[in-house]
Amino acid sequence: MICQECRDNGQKSVVRAHKSGVEWPNSYGDSFYDEEGHPHDHNPNTYVFGHICSNGHVWSTEMRMECGRCGHAWRDEITS
Ligand SMILES: [Zn+2]
Ligand SMILES: [Zn+2]
Repeated sequence: MICQECRDNGQKSVVRAHKSGVEWPNSYGDSFYDEEGHPHDHNPNTYVFGHICSNGHVWSTEMRMECGRCGHAWRDEITS
């Protein structure tokens, strides 16, 4: 992770997690073990992670938790 603003300014910085930007949804997805006993975590939530760089720039990124087994594939299962 690189601070975009620092990169634009040609600066270097250390990026840390910034607590105030984090939103943890309280609904959980479908976690289960498949027929072969492999864990799946099909969590439909989007998580917002806050970041702050050592030059004081604050921003956030969104990410979705991916199932380590199915990757993107499971979303198709849900929508179909
Ligand atoms: Zn920065
Ligand atoms: Zn899966």
